[in-house]
Amino acid sequence: MSSGAGDLIAAAAAYFFRRIVNGAFVCYNADMKRLRFLTALWLGKIAVLACRVLGRGGTDMPGRLALKICPDVLKYLSSGVNTVLITGTNGKTTTSRIVERGLAAAGLDCFANRSGANLLSGIVTCFASNAKLSGKSRHDWAVIECDEAALKFVTLYIKPVSLTVTNIFRDQLDRYGEVTHTLSSIRTSVANIPGAVLCLNADCSLTWSAADDAKNAVISFGVDVPIYRGEVSDLSDAPYCSRCKSRYNYDYRTFGHLGGWRCSSCENKRHQPDIRVTRILSSGESGTAVVMSIFDSEYTARINLAGGYNVYNACAAAACLHSAGVGDGTVIEALGSFEGGFGRMEEFSLGGVSARMILVKNPAGCNQVINYLCSGSGPALFVICLNDRAADGTDISWIWDVEFENLAARKDRLTGLWVSGVRADDMALRLKYAGFDEGELRVIRDYNELLDEIAAQSSPVYIMPTYTAMMDLRGIMTKRFKLKKFWM
Ligand SMILES: [Zn+2]
Repeated sequence: MSSGAGDLIAAAAAYFFRRIVNGAFVCYNADMKRLRFLTALWLGKIAVLACRVLGRGGTDMPGRLALKICPDVLKYLSSGVNTVLITGTNGKTTTSRIVERGLAAAGLDCFANRSGANLLSGIVTCFASNAKLSGKSRHDWAVIECDEAALKFVTLYIKPVSLTVTNIFRDQLDRYGEVTHTLSSIRTSVANIPGAVLCLNADCSLTWSAADDAKNAVISFGVDVPIYRGEVSDLSDAPYCSRCKSRYNYDYRTFGHLGGWRCSSCENKRHQPDIRVTRILSSGESGTAVVMSIFDSEYTARINLAGGYNVYNACAAAACLHSAGVGDGTVIEALGSFEGGFGRMEEFSLGGVSARMILVKNPAGCNQVINYLCSGSGPALFVICLNDRAADGTDISWIWDVEFENLAARKDRLTGLWVSGVRADDMALRLKYAGFDEGELRVIRDYNELLDEIAAQSSPVYIMPTYTAMMDLRGIMTKRFKLKKFWM
């Protein structure tokens, strides 16, 4: 054999040997990735089970564990699941509940992170809980509410059908910083998911500006008319144009900086939304009746939860459901039949007394709750529970931006105003400045005593807790009044 042929055979042998070794290596690598993913999933599932056995919610820890083992575990878990992501400062939970109801009514099989664990780890826990041991999801659809700051990480792994942004308001300053930080996080997220439909609040100039540089398809939603009778506050988290920094003028305001905004010097202005409420027919304790236009088809709809801000949540949910291909009739049915989320106007019977729990966490949201309470009639007791733990926001200066003065103007409705929580004294001080005398306020620090006193009332009670106060209160109520447990 000539040396030339020998070289050729040697080269061919080397080539094929390399291919085989490389192939094996690639397979090995793929297997290793899969093994790592499955290890993360199984340990996560065991952790979920352990938390339940121990009687803890455990919505965060299993996800954290899974992420340590496999940082991109969510990519595998969400693959093949039609996911709708819902974010924004206020209204995420209620919007998600309506969307969940609508998907179910459309016959689509879905799961959701109902417990409100909306950071990356909580979302991983939720997907892991709903996955089979093989890693494949047990459901076709997922309704995921996501924290605004966590969204830019979550969108690295989940490629959703749509992203709904309810609104952007000033929120826990210690966590989110100013609204511009929240907006920039949402913009980064939008860039991560070019294939997703954006469902945006056209009445919120901040939210609307998230679409400025995006190539995504957009479905806009909004409210064409004022929601509340009489004056609304002009307290604004976005007084200046996002493009030219001139002041916005308003044709009308719904609340906060939401409404018919237009820039005083450039072309930037609210566009007529695709999905919009054109009339408020009536509003009461059991909900609001509206006329809703969905891509120019008009419907009379009943929104099954009181409060003007739930009109926006209904619009956001309608846009999200539209992005999922759900028909208008089913959307309208969902608006009239969904149940409020955890702590969102949730009704309890405490020793025969009707108590509603309404979570408060930032000035815009709290002002809406006060608008709702002031617009009602009939005597009622109001209870405010203020905590300052990490999940509430450690900076409680936001209570000074809430218009408790409006509450003081409706003393005729109040059978009492009680305060509780870790920062009860700060709350009482704020209420004194709002126009309540010391004798009109009652501080009850102990939650058991508070619940006893509530159960002894004869008129309805509205409890407004911050997040951790709500969790504590619910924990005690679950034990004492045999409420159902809430975790996934
Ligand atoms: Zn402008």
